[in-house]
Amino acid sequence: MTDVLIIGAGVVGSAIARELSKYELDITILEKDSDIAEGVTKANSGIVHAGYNEKIGTLKGKLNREGNDMFDSLSKDLDFKFERNGALVLGFSEGDMVTLEELKKNGEELGIKGLSILDKEDTLNLEKNIKENVKGALYAKTSGIVSPYEMTIALAENAALNGARFKLNSEVTGIEKVDGFYRVKLKNGEEIEAQIVINAAGLYGDKINNMVSKNVLKVKGVKGEYLLLDKVSGKLTNKTLFTVPKKDTKGVLVTKTVEGNLLVGPNAEELDDVFDFSVTEEGSTEVNDKGLDLINEIPEKRIITAFSGIRPHIKSDFIIEEAKDSKNFINVIGIDSPGLTCAPAIAVYVKDLLKDKIELKEDTSFNGKRKGILRFNELSFDEKNEVIKENRAYGKLICKCELITEGEIVDAINRPLGARTVDGVKRRTRASMGGCQGVGCLIPIATIISRELDIPLNKVMKNNKNSNVIGFKED
Ligand SMILES: Cc1cc2nc3c(=O)[nH]c(=O)nc-3n(C[C@H](O)[C@H](O)[C@H](O)COP(=O)(O)OP(=O)(O)OC[C@H]3O[C@@H](n4cnc5c(N)ncnc54)[C@H](O)[C@@H]3O)c2cc1C
Repeated sequence: MTDVLIIGAGVVGSAIARELSKYELDITILEKDSDIAEGVTKANSGIVHAGYNEKIGTLKGKLNREGNDMFDSLSKDLDFKFERNGALVLGFSEGDMVTLEELKKNGEELGIKGLSILDKEDTLNLEKNIKENVKGALYAKTSGIVSPYEMTIALAENAALNGARFKLNSEVTGIEKVDGFYRVKLKNGEEIEAQIVINAAGLYGDKINNMVSKNVLKVKGVKGEYLLLDKVSGKLTNKTLFTVPKKDTKGVLVTKTVEGNLLVGPNAEELDDVFDFSVTEEGSTEVNDKGLDLINEIPEKRIITAFSGIRPHIKSDFIIEEAKDSKNFINVIGIDSPGLTCAPAIAVYVKDLLKDKIELKEDTSFNGKRKGILRFNELSFDEKNEVIKENRAYGKLICKCELITEGEIVDAINRPLGARTVDGVKRRTRASMGGCQGVGCLIPIATIISRELDIPLNKVMKNNKNSNVIGFKED
């Protein structure tokens, strides 16, 4: 029997796994997909929100500030990129300026530091490409940017190194309450017994809850589409530019990403029952038009891809609690925005919920540090030569847009919880994330995966399901 079973290896499940791996516990994480961060976590804005707009007295308000505070040390310990680039919420009318003052006051009551109101001149001095008709801005210095999957993979790798057991391709199809524990059934017929179950299943958090609890819940998907531009366009703004938030959404933003691209989006479209990730002409147009309300140009020819993410909305606040009718079954669901920012603080909050359920004895062998994949292109000329002398695979360039070497790809495959698909390599190294979006390196990456994992090339997948990179008949 496992002590704690976590369902879902998104940023929330992975952060909880790492937090709990500080204690002498047997931890199992079940993930239906073939990699970490395949769900909501893989497609979002990547903003570490300052949190000025969250309601006082809510979990979001509390955990946003606490989570934001944790990013400096967490990113150092786990070696993922994080930059406190700051955010400007732009006002374009007198009414907007009143709202910005209210947001500042709300933020200060939540304990958020570094908030100030700027006039037009100071706003334009900070970012010269902002629309000339701006009246002023709320400047939030603590806002930051992060790669959501890089962060999540780092959390999961560190949890795994500290003994947490990740079982990928393991979809939960049923949960049985037995006397004092849970029997969790997987699609492949396997059953796992657990003392405590933590439901961190993102868009499917309602289904997992409804397998156990009579308090039936329903996730409403709210889709957001994005346009991603190249790194030349990333220089158009250093800060994250927001519009004045509406009732349920922060609106379309324009931001530099932590890797230096420009990201514009997301809009907000409520979905019916089907989680449809398609991108649409209307969505792209809406995002582009709303982005152009904030910034002078969004160069069409520099758009490299469009994508969408879906927010798992249940109610206005997160649900992080034991199900009322199911002892030791903890829901961590309805984690829509700002869930990425909150994840490290959610993990601590969940750990505290477990205090009176299971003994939390510190594991003295816990190692909270993790080394990320070498970023070869960021080395000096001499350092590059040294690395190549040690390992010639770093002398072979595979992704010519992002300048990623074979050495980095081999590391991404062979490290704990390593990549098993081309997209797994992409999210760990950025290979195929550049201007050509993999046209040049898809097959070379697949060939390396095939060699390293000793599987036929035609069995290498682009991503999760039946997405064979090449199709040919076996002899
Ligand atoms: C458009 C958009 C923009 C956003 N922008 C931001 C932002 O800028 N900043 C911010 O802080 N937050 C942002 N968020 C919110 C943030 O992305 C989410 O809160 C966070 O990623 C949720 O993570 P999660 O781990 O709960 O869910 P997920 O990442 O979806 O993880 C749940 C996992 O559970 C797995 N699973 C589901 N069912 C089963 C099953 N039956 N068996 C086994 N595994 C299962 C799934 O495959 C998935 O991997 C945004 C969200 C969206 C959609």
